[in-house]
Amino acid sequence: MQLSEKAAYVKGLIEGLELDPKDKQTRVFKVIADLLCEMAEEIKDLGQCYDDVCDQVDGISVDLAGVEDLIGENTFGSVSYDNDAALDSEMAYEVTCPTCNETTYLNENSLNSGVIKCPSCGEILELGYVEDELDGADDKSEAEE
Ligand SMILES: [Zn+2]
Repeated sequence: MQLSEKAAYVKGLIEGLELDPKDKQTRVFKVIADLLCEMAEEIKDLGQCYDDVCDQVDGISVDLAGVEDLIGENTFGSVSYDNDAALDSEMAYEVTCPTCNETTYLNENSLNSGVIKCPSCGEILELGYVEDELDGADDKSEAEE
């Protein structure tokens, strides 16, 4: 049962008591019953607002993922830092060629040059990786600990 239905049910019960309408206590019961019904409606409206906001946040999230795809792949070729690879060797960076979709592993030197040639299709890839930003974030979090 919805809250508003419960409130209406309580109101009906009170009316069913057939209390003396001139009695002060009857007025109190009536006011309380009306208040319950109003609160139930208000809560229902708030719930609807909450659902709407959640839908909008989901929409923003989907839009943002689209923007990330555009920035990450079509413009620069996507670059990500791979912690496991960093431990294994200096081939720590992964670049996906937007032309042939081949993934290439780079060491730091070739990454710092900013431009690489795809070993698979020969496409020249300009890297959009900003090393200072990532390093800066790491240093900061370590300093705060
Ligand atoms: Zn390629």
